[in-house]
Amino acid sequence: KNAIEVRGVRKVFGTGENQVAALDTVSVSIRENEFFTLLGPSGCGKTTLLRLIAGFDFPSAGEILLHGQDIAPLPPFKRPVNTVFQSYALFPHMTVAQNIGFGLEMLGQPKAEIEARVAQMLKLVKMEALRARRTSQISGGQQQRVALARALAPQPKVLLLDEPLSALDYKLRKEMQIELKRLQHETGITFIFVTHDQEEALTMSDRIAVMSAGKILQVGAPRDIYDRPAERFVADFIGETNFLAGTVVSKKPGVATVKFASNATITAGYPEGFEPSGDVTLVVRPEHADMVPDPAKGTITGTLSNIVYFGTDTHYHVKLDGGENFIVRHQNSRSSPVTYETGAKV
Ligand code: ADP
Ligand code: MG
Repeated sequence: KNAIEVRGVRKVFGTGENQVAALDTVSVSIRENEFFTLLGPSGCGKTTLLRLIAGFDFPSAGEILLHGQDIAPLPPFKRPVNTVFQSYALFPHMTVAQNIGFGLEMLGQPKAEIEARVAQMLKLVKMEALRARRTSQISGGQQQRVALARALAPQPKVLLLDEPLSALDYKLRKEMQIELKRLQHETGITFIFVTHDQEEALTMSDRIAVMSAGKILQVGAPRDIYDRPAERFVADFIGETNFLAGTVVSKKPGVATVKFASNATITAGYPEGFEPSGDVTLVVRPEHADMVPDPAKGTITGTLSNIVYFGTDTHYHVKLDGGENFIVRHQNSRSSPVTYETGAKV
């Protein structure tokens, strides 16, 4: 079942020459109980889409359904949707507990119920010990937890999270990623999570929508997006990717043989619905590529220009004789031999 259906939504800001289509006819269905991520570079329309779902702004065209019902007539506070903002937007002069209970008080819930719910939320985000602290006196990571608890307290059906982890340092961000997954799992609430960080999207999401310039280019599970990118932009934005320009010389169902400038050929798979012919681009993930010293004739050759050590793996930057830059990634182990040096022909 779908929690949210976005149907042909457009959002245009400004008028005349200053018109910007922040969302250029977006359609997407988000399932109940799903950890769904909107991924894309800054300015692609992620926040705009969240704001339309939350009701802070209205679509120029199209409609948004919540559990099959058009939510256009509902003001934000009547939508069973809540938002966690990047800035947290906590009240600094209030305690942790008061912040979490604030929304419930606005809804006019009885005091005893609010107290019980706040206690439950404090436990959920592991902040019981700090319930009486002012939020101006807790760390960024703790503020993040309070913001989450406050947003979850009124039991929304859908939680919108707009780059909620971007203000945290690396280690804390990794911790909160796991914490967010746990919260989503425990509460069963549909999460719509926004990030521009592809690694975050891959590790956290059930499904990802990759956005660019107001459009959704591909929706799929992390593996689909990574292994079968539908477009060059998606392949480029998610992970590191090598692109090689070549010409199709022959093809069988599902595989094509491509010739490169050096006369080398590579036989590669191609996605369904694409009929390769003429000039094509070959997409090679760095971890799927390998290299050998003393290259044979008819292979793709180049010179090692840079070796970058990452602890878990090593990236070899190769300047191909055809002029392209190419990266080969080797996973390191304690027994991996160190056999290459920059300047080597591979
Ligand atoms: P993202 O969250 O992906 O960074 P946004 O949704 O904030 O992107 O913005 C998408 C586009 O819409 C950008 O070009 C931005 O400048 C424009 N935009 C967003 N909000 C407004 C607004 N209130 N007025 C004018 N332009 C806006
Ligand atoms: Mg944004």
